[in-house]
Amino acid sequence: MITAAMTQLVQCPDCRSALIRATDDEAMTCGGCRRRFDTRHGYLDLRPLATFEEQTKYLDHELHADARHESIAPPVLGSKIRNDMLRRFLRPGPGDRIADLGCGSGRAIVWNAGSGAAVLGVDISPFFAQEAIDRADLILGDLRRLPLQSAVFTKAWSLDVMEHLSPQALTDVLREANRVLAPGGTLFIYTHVRKNGWPALGVRLVNRIARVCERVGLLDLRQERLRKSDHLNPLADHDDLRQVAAACGFEIARITYYSPVIGAFMENVLARMAEHWLARRAGRRLPAAGPTDDHAAVRAARRAAQARVRRGGALYWGLRAATALMQIDLWLFGRIPTGPFFALLRKPAAGSPQATER
Ligand SMILES: [Zn+2]
Repeated sequence: MITAAMTQLVQCPDCRSALIRATDDEAMTCGGCRRRFDTRHGYLDLRPLATFEEQTKYLDHELHADARHESIAPPVLGSKIRNDMLRRFLRPGPGDRIADLGCGSGRAIVWNAGSGAAVLGVDISPFFAQEAIDRADLILGDLRRLPLQSAVFTKAWSLDVMEHLSPQALTDVLREANRVLAPGGTLFIYTHVRKNGWPALGVRLVNRIARVCERVGLLDLRQERLRKSDHLNPLADHDDLRQVAAACGFEIARITYYSPVIGAFMENVLARMAEHWLARRAGRRLPAAGPTDDHAAVRAARRAAQARVRRGGALYWGLRAATALMQIDLWLFGRIPTGPFFALLRKPAAGSPQATER
């Protein structure tokens, strides 16, 4: 969707001039350098001409072979934990103008559509769900050079993004996030630092169980491995986080740590087992012509599971119950510093001591 409101917020990624709607309505043109931007797919392609040396693996089609991005089911398990924390920390509401930085399929925008906030999603890769394209303003763009005007957003969120960046890229992304936020604006992030606390031993034990289960053929962790293969983990520890945040103009307003011991068991063992079983069943149902396509089976299984979750039957409520149990990780370990964390970063209000210090 390309709304009039969005055209007020964007700018040229190359020369930072405002954009003008072309008369043929098929494209937008930069008022400065006259570059034309494509709108045909229902989102604006505002990627900069200058390419960065560093590129994310999220552009690889292989990573999207399981078609996780194609449709949006209600949030369950880890996705629901993250989305609940987002709402608790950020409190999106009417009157808010929010940027989803690294929005992926756009599912968090769809999940929070009822909040009344106007949300705009930005991602470097075009793997948007049709549902998100239909319902939200989406932009293809580089987070290191946001094609967005300065100080126009009240809030922003960025989930599972920072760990994919180098230290330099992380600084670039946080500085850009800071630029587009109005003074007093907040950014909710979910990512991790490299240094873990003692509850991480529990997570490691569960993951060892998952690997044993994989060896005996009960589950398949290849997609998870692929997903984590481009983690650069730029933050060493929480001191490092505070320093990097401060250097980019943020103070840390709130933080909760996340040691998903029960969560890892639910997601990395039980859910993967169920998925593996469904994929094998779907694989047997696929036409037997040619060699069995692993990806096709996983895709079919995932689609079937998503459809069942969307219908809200026993599977959905079972997953909701599992998600409720996963909350225990937050109650038990939320105050114990460890790698993964939820944080609310604040851009100091104009005139506050922190703002004048800089
Ligand atoms: Zn331009």
